[in-house]
Amino acid sequence: MSIDLQAAKQDLLTLKEEYETRIDKIEDHIQNPQDDLNEHWEDQAISYRQNDMRTNLMVEARQSLIYVENALSRIENGTYGKCEVCGEQIEEQRLQALPYATLCMEHAE
Ligand SMILES: [Zn+2]
Repeated sequence: MSIDLQAAKQDLLTLKEEYETRIDKIEDHIQNPQDDLNEHWEDQAISYRQNDMRTNLMVEARQSLIYVENALSRIENGTYGKCEVCGEQIEEQRLQALPYATLCMEHAE
């Protein structure tokens, strides 16, 4: 069993782009909530709540982006797909579902 590094890299690059686009969009919304044409922003409380939600989403997207970037550098230095705890090969299925996984199933618990 071996990992297709090229495919993994492609997946990671796609994810990276997705997260970067998402972060840009959320940042835009937070800075210019009035640009949101589908929403009514008269209600400030709703607007603040929405911004809170967006801030959370952005924190999440930034965190995921860091994972993705780490995974990409692990591809470069040849440690991609190895569990950080036991050093064993991470299950292929797991990597397919989560290309930036750093732990095998056993140690991800
Ligand atoms: Zn492990």
